[in-house]
Amino acid sequence: MMRGRFAPTPSGLMHLGNARTALLAWLQVRRAGGQFVLRIEDIDKPRARPDLAAQILDDLRWLGIDWDEGPDVGGPYGPYTQSERADLYREALGRLEAAGWLYPCYCSRSELMAIASAPHGLGAEGPAYPGTCRHLTAEHRTRRAARGKAPSLRFALPDEPVSFADGVAGPQTFPPGAGGDFVVVRADGIVGYQLAVVADDAAMQITDVLRGWDLLDSTPRQILLFRALGLPVPRFAHVPLLFGPDGQRLSKRHGSATIAAMRAAGMPPERVVGHLAHLSGLTDRPEPVRAADLVAGFDLGRVTLEPATYRSPRDGQDVTGADRDH
Ligand code: GLU
Repeated sequence: MMRGRFAPTPSGLMHLGNARTALLAWLQVRRAGGQFVLRIEDIDKPRARPDLAAQILDDLRWLGIDWDEGPDVGGPYGPYTQSERADLYREALGRLEAAGWLYPCYCSRSELMAIASAPHGLGAEGPAYPGTCRHLTAEHRTRRAARGKAPSLRFALPDEPVSFADGVAGPQTFPPGAGGDFVVVRADGIVGYQLAVVADDAAMQITDVLRGWDLLDSTPRQILLFRALGLPVPRFAHVPLLFGPDGQRLSKRHGSATIAAMRAAGMPPERVVGHLAHLSGLTDRPEPVRAADLVAGFDLGRVTLEPATYRSPRDGQDVTGADRDH
């Protein structure tokens, strides 16, 4: 049985880019007659907002996307909100530590701040960690620990390449050590995204992860974590991102691209879904369509690799489909 998920971080309103990822993940699962899980990724508490999580659920439903398990409907692998799953992460952490995968890192905090935030690809982290603390002598470690500053914990990458077949991007190989040893727990005790996601996907029996392209380079890290924990590795598919008219990755800065703005403007959900399906290469024309009507014909192989540009309805009438240039 295929089990997929959509795992939004409630740090902003849902925009067309998130909606497209959700739609594709949902279509893949519904086409296969599988089960769809909704998980709220709010471990980074300062940025996560409960009201936004509720809004995301509401926007998804409005789009015609439903789920078999989630924070509101429950299910056998709950809770479905990361901030309520700390025990699971601690348990995974204990196992990694016992197996010798982790080491304390005393390096400066500033670069660690990004780690539990909604990830935007490894590029956003800056240069790869050079492994400074990996080779500290026991004596050095004791001396650093005695200074009282809590360390973060890093995963020591094994000296081997990581390969996987991406359902959209095709075969991927990352060289040994790609991205550097990564943080699994920050100095302030917050578990990093990589570990939380792996612990959750395994515990929720996820077989197929479909998500945004920005997470493609997180995947080798997650595969290594699955392996280190002795857990089955799911299949992965990374779908292209949507870009705004300014050439930037779609984000909450693009106010008119939010589902909330489209709803407020009176746009019917079929129009939004039709637009997303067309942008994704699923339909020849951006005609209005219900999400449910896309299930039967869905083929992951048809999803375009081209990152698409969203033009606001005002600029380009894109969402209405009235002003496409082809
Ligand atoms: N929570 C992540 C985000 O909103 C997605 C995590 C995932 O799909 O693995 O960017």
